[in-house]
Amino acid sequence: MSKYMKPEKVETYWFETYGCQMNIAESNALKTMLEGVGVQEANDEESADIVIINTCSVRKSAENRVWGRLGNYSRIKKEHPMILIVIGCMAQRLLDELQTEAPWVDYVLGTNDKQKVVEIATGHDKIIRDESYEFLLSYYKEGDYSTFVPIMNGCNNFCTYCIVPYVRGREVSRSLDSIIEEVKFLDSKKVREITLLGQNVNSYNFVDADNNKITFPILLEKVCEVANNIQWIRFESPHPKDFSDELIQVIKKEEKVAKHLHIPLQSGNSRILKKMNRIYDREKYLNLIAKIRKEIPNVTFATDVMVGFPSETEEECLDTLSAMEILRCNEAYMYFWNPREGTPATKMDGQISNEIKHQRLQKIIDRQQEIFSEEKTKYAKGIHTVLVTKKSRNDKEQMLSRDEHNQMVAFNPICELKPGDLVKVEYLSVNGNTIVGKQV
Ligand code: SF4
Repeated sequence: MSKYMKPEKVETYWFETYGCQMNIAESNALKTMLEGVGVQEANDEESADIVIINTCSVRKSAENRVWGRLGNYSRIKKEHPMILIVIGCMAQRLLDELQTEAPWVDYVLGTNDKQKVVEIATGHDKIIRDESYEFLLSYYKEGDYSTFVPIMNGCNNFCTYCIVPYVRGREVSRSLDSIIEEVKFLDSKKVREITLLGQNVNSYNFVDADNNKITFPILLEKVCEVANNIQWIRFESPHPKDFSDELIQVIKKEEKVAKHLHIPLQSGNSRILKKMNRIYDREKYLNLIAKIRKEIPNVTFATDVMVGFPSETEEECLDTLSAMEILRCNEAYMYFWNPREGTPATKMDGQISNEIKHQRLQKIIDRQQEIFSEEKTKYAKGIHTVLVTKKSRNDKEQMLSRDEHNQMVAFNPICELKPGDLVKVEYLSVNGNTIVGKQV
């Protein structure tokens, strides 16, 4: 008899989710589906009948964490009957290895097979692998006031450092009807903020039954038409090459579309961008930013930058710094390149030492921190609508909130407030990364 036991009936679940917003959205949807068949959230992983680990492969460290957690579950499973399932990108990439190295894992389900978790929980565990990706009906979790709406999955771009196209497959767009139905449902639930989600969100491309081609700008307009209670519509992550003039006009025209755009730069040097296969160069990226600023003067930006890509010189890294000076974003995800097994960049000449990568990253972070602070100081005035998120931990009298531009705002409430409420706050000063204001 196996030393690992399985429960007779599945009544409770436990999720561990790693990685991107798409994984968070998919885990939310699966939780709702499990609750729909009577399986409730457990108090902890030790007491759950079914445990699902939703994995990420973007960085080696994310995979290492999951290997560590699997070791822990090998112990728990010996003491407590449990079904253990690994889903997501790592399950797709390392299916055989997971089955061989962690035989106590009961099921390994790749990116197309996640919804089979529900079949397993209800005892219908004849797993037939799906060839294609299926969107779930809804990604909402009861009580959410801010939620993700996946609209496409996969990527056709093959940036040379990225594992996503290999684990998520080619781009698939969700049907327009299904997206609109979900947005109407979220609106009826008084969700305040939605984020349309996809690895390459603005390459959304759906052909409906009448052969109409629905592109991302068209979709965005249609989503705005059904958003009443929803205050802000955001989208993540767009690719600069697909950021059309038509899209800029829709963002400009539609009040509900947040005027805060995340447009990944990655590098400010055209030679490095070419080696990354980003399909734009420095000039095109900066022209796009200038065009958006001209059309939408109150816009703010977030970006991603990566330093230390193979063969990057000191001067080329300074090009990234100078592009950041022009961009002056109020959010930035800054990191150094790490070899990702299975991607072309791993085999490129000119690998850079960790010491130099750290130095370059630190330089970018230091300057960007100054830019954040300069931008916040300029911005902290006037009256703004904010979305209440939680009570401050440092000052129990204060509430924390976020605004349209994703800035954190602290204020003393003048009435009873709860997360998800929208209120007006007058901005008065800046304290570190937080704007301080008063409710009006
Ligand atoms: S656009 Fe590039 S970085 Fe983004 S998911 Fe596709 S391959 Fe990865």
